[in-house]
Amino acid sequence: MPQGIRRPHEAVDYAALTQLYPPPPQYFESAYYDTREAIEAKQLARLQDRALRAYQVPFFRKRWDAAGFDPRSLTSLADLDRIPFYTVDDIRKSIDANPPLGDYQGVSIGDARREPMRVFMSGGTTGNSRPTLYTAWDREAGAILTARGLYQQGIRPGDTVLNSWAYSTHNGAFSMDEALYNWLNCVVITTGTGTVTSSRRQIELALQYGANAILTTGDYLLRLADMAREMGIDPKNDLKLCALPNIGEREILEETFGVPNYASYGFHEVQWVATECPARQGLHIMEDAFIVQVVDTESGELLPDGELGSLVVTEVYKTGSPQFRYNIMDLSSLHPPERCECGSWLRRMAPFAGRGDNMVKLRGVNVWPEALGEIVMTHAEATEDYFVRAIRQENRDEMIVAITTPAQTSAYATIQGEIESLLKEKIGVKFTVEVHPLGGLDEWTEIKTSPKTKRFSDERN
Ligand SMILES: [Zn+2]
Repeated sequence: MPQGIRRPHEAVDYAALTQLYPPPPQYFESAYYDTREAIEAKQLARLQDRALRAYQVPFFRKRWDAAGFDPRSLTSLADLDRIPFYTVDDIRKSIDANPPLGDYQGVSIGDARREPMRVFMSGGTTGNSRPTLYTAWDREAGAILTARGLYQQGIRPGDTVLNSWAYSTHNGAFSMDEALYNWLNCVVITTGTGTVTSSRRQIELALQYGANAILTTGDYLLRLADMAREMGIDPKNDLKLCALPNIGEREILEETFGVPNYASYGFHEVQWVATECPARQGLHIMEDAFIVQVVDTESGELLPDGELGSLVVTEVYKTGSPQFRYNIMDLSSLHPPERCECGSWLRRMAPFAGRGDNMVKLRGVNVWPEALGEIVMTHAEATEDYFVRAIRQENRDEMIVAITTPAQTSAYATIQGEIESLLKEKIGVKFTVEVHPLGGLDEWTEIKTSPKTKRFSDERN
């Protein structure tokens, strides 16, 4: 072997990896049913190990020293609360001061001969993209976690799967690819997005190869269903989909393809975190790899179970770039640590409920655009499409809620009045509602051009 070079298969101890983080289906016959005691014992041991590693990374060492936290003093899971959290802003500052990688990476590109690695960047929906270096171990462990999620959503070993995510600088398509190929023995057809392989061709391939799933946004999958119908193909009976790992409008997806759709949660730096089980009472967090907390979006105080706040995520599976109390500002809540109908004691979180940094304080009331969207959708004439703008008018903050409807323009005034009353009644403050025809918000929401639909813009300056 050439001196000093360690290949990926030499850098990862696969026996240790699969013992620590069992892949599917073994995971669903073992760790998935661990007792709370066993789960927490694993978490603490892994957390202690991760804390010592994270302390070697300048970003964490600085913050922990400033807060007077010594990682060797971590003796219980409750000690985690003594560690300061950080947000995307802190990561951005770290990148600005130490471009291009920041000082939060646990490895450096100079280590690549000994430590095979990949770099991926966040989607950058809010500001510049954030790079993360992943070691070979982090790729494989992350792929196992993703494989578990895909399995829980209905994909089975040996399936044929179209991967219609963008193979780009983003982690998404690759983590799915690695999960499907390395840990689920699926045959992956790497179509990429509609701009790489046309929607018509995607449907042809899905049909010819009897694809069991198409990985993409729920929105694009529904567009593929429209394309199928145009081609005289019935999405439910002619396509062979048996899983819907697509984030989107659940009811329409299930109705279109006749397959259950289970929610999931994850993000760029830590990959797949949680997946819904058939009981549909929350998303089970993979607690052998994560500790998830919920804090108040403003004070940062830990919130009781059931209360909506920002997710603070700590991973306990990586060897490279640590994520240790990362306040991701995604809104959710935790269920009490009870046993689920499915038999698992793994803690559950509520589905993603919007962005914490989109919150607007309107006459003393905390308002999230996503919460407004949820209320709007309960009106019979409104669709699930909406867009909220915060503006400054006559020295006070106002919010304009734009909605779409299939109704005739003659009904717009009535719909507007009804939804304004509905919002006033539910939130307690007044909103202005604008009514648009179907598709009328596409330029704002970027629903047809971006995988992350936008629902809010802050125009207050
Ligand atoms: Zn369950």
